[in-house]
Amino acid sequence: MREVKADWCVCTIPASILSQLDVQVSDTMKAAIRAVGYSTQVKIGLEFKRRFWEEDDHIYGGHSFTSQTIGLVSYPNNNMFGKGPAVLLGAFASDAAGLQLSGMTPEQRIETALAQGEVFHPQYRKEFMNGVAVAWSRVPWMMGCTSRWTDENRAQHYQNLVAMDGRLVLAGEHASYYGGWMEGSLLSSLDAITRLHKAAQEA
Ligand SMILES: Cc1cc2nc3c(=O)[nH]c(=O)nc-3n(C[C@H](O)[C@H](O)[C@H](O)COP(=O)(O)OP(=O)(O)OC[C@H]3O[C@@H](n4cnc5c(N)ncnc54)[C@H](O)[C@@H]3O)c2cc1C
Repeated sequence: MREVKADWCVCTIPASILSQLDVQVSDTMKAAIRAVGYSTQVKIGLEFKRRFWEEDDHIYGGHSFTSQTIGLVSYPNNNMFGKGPAVLLGAFASDAAGLQLSGMTPEQRIETALAQGEVFHPQYRKEFMNGVAVAWSRVPWMMGCTSRWTDENRAQHYQNLVAMDGRLVLAGEHASYYGGWMEGSLLSSLDAITRLHKAAQEA
């Protein structure tokens, strides 16, 4: 572990992680950090020997949506008509479906994606080569895919989350109105350094 001393701190650790750390901030900021919810998305990539969705089914990019756990199948919109192996998105699950897949082993997730995807494409089993699954709620440095504010939480806690708290200010997509987008992180950083600059000038 490395220790660094500084006059001010802009902390960009996700609230899902920060809520589990012993941070020396006010009770109102602690409550705000704990109030931020996180989404549960899971994505599964499936590699196949050939682009059968193009060659057999004439599908070029886009999605097949389903009410099954996988949510959808997304087809690559690059390298169309290419030869050899290709990867499609075999699942993009959210909410309860995301949690369901998160509770499985990676192998079980891939098997689920194959079983549910072959409803659309009977070629799945014959053409399958490899798969990879990411459940963001189980990624240790994120523990969730993106922040999810409710209107009630935002009304009660948002201003406490983004306010200067002593010499610390938070930034990141969770400290913005555009959770789950890079734009949110960028806008939040501008807001945070504006607040910090003002506090430093007044100190
Ligand atoms: C699957 C997925 C798809 C997305 N697609 C898009 C898209 O198409 N377009 C778009 O604009 N945005 C997209 N996003 C959202 C975008 O990636 C995020 O909004 C953005 O990266 C958030 O930036 P951030 O700096 O707030 O957080 P992060 O990029 O998550 O940075 C937080 C950092 O804190 C670090 N950290 C965690 N714990 C600790 C600790 N204890 N100590 C020190 N460091 C720690 C983490 O390692 C990480 O580097 C997507 C996100 C996901 C997950």
